[in-house]
Amino acid sequence: MEYFSEILLLGIDTVVFTICLKQYIHYKNAIKVIKNVELYDVGADIENLLDKSSNNKVDYVAVRGIVKPLKESLQSINKKDVTGVIQKLSVKEHIVARTSAGYWSDQERTLQQIYNTVPFVLQNRWYRVEIIDPLSADILDLDIISDNFQSSVPTVIDHIWGFFTEHSTGVRQRGIQSTEKMLREDSIITAIGELSKSKTESNYFILQPPLNGPPFYITSMSITSLMRKLDDHKKIYRIFCLMSGALGIVLATIMARRYWKNKQQQRLAEQLRQSLETSRQERRQRVRDRDLREDQICVVCKTNAREIILLPCGHVCICEDCSVSINNNCPVCRTQIIQKAAAYIV
Ligand SMILES: [Zn+2]
Ligand SMILES: [Zn+2]
Repeated sequence: MEYFSEILLLGIDTVVFTICLKQYIHYKNAIKVIKNVELYDVGADIENLLDKSSNNKVDYVAVRGIVKPLKESLQSINKKDVTGVIQKLSVKEHIVARTSAGYWSDQERTLQQIYNTVPFVLQNRWYRVEIIDPLSADILDLDIISDNFQSSVPTVIDHIWGFFTEHSTGVRQRGIQSTEKMLREDSIITAIGELSKSKTESNYFILQPPLNGPPFYITSMSITSLMRKLDDHKKIYRIFCLMSGALGIVLATIMARRYWKNKQQQRLAEQLRQSLETSRQERRQRVRDRDLREDQICVVCKTNAREIILLPCGHVCICEDCSVSINNNCPVCRTQIIQKAAAYIV
């Protein structure tokens, strides 16, 4: 296909643009709702707020408090004195891979990722807010408890074997990274979501992912820092949007120009062909013998001399001008025309 690479590039560019635009809009809307969100410390204020609200529910609110587990807390694997309510264990493999373009690039792939959780609340004296479904949060800030990178040490055999295989497989392991992250017990966090009153207990509230749209955040940052972080993301996606948009326009312009140039070249070639054909016809007209017998005249136009032999039947029955439009069958015997050639009758 003529424009294959351009269309492919434009396709990839459009996908990148769409993803970036979606992210940009997401962050823009997130900043808009966070800007208006009210922050409450766990306590009597929350109770007052819910008492004032209709059906004991506030659609979107930020609540700050101290993390306390509802069951026995989780213990860190790497640092025994650390306990928490959410634990994320991940094992990543770092590899050096040869890309299809021929150069080497560092890549990482997740081999395993596990979350452990125990139900928890944000607590302040006798007021408690339970956080529902924390893993579904759009932002979930966890502390890094440990981060180990173990590089794979190639043995001599690996080196020799690698010499033969690396170039064919194009993948070499650099090492294994294992990370442990936790939401620590007793840390102060802010959770932003939908707040409601517990139906059974007093001084007990529930914060869950908002049902209709706005993002759910569990963060150790202040609202201002959170907004700054979201704004940074928004800016990055805006730059990506502009870049991929500009690239798209450039690609489309290049394609349009090439298409237009091709069309113009085709038109010029056609004009040239036609003018050559006309001049050839005129030249033939000038040299033609006007004084012809009936059996020397073209059977189609009845004017010019017979100039073309049709093969395989061998009839010499048409002039060169008429031969341009006769391609299928001989006008005399209806045999299919395989070939036409100039006939020189002397
Ligand atoms: Zn003719
Ligand atoms: Zn014939």
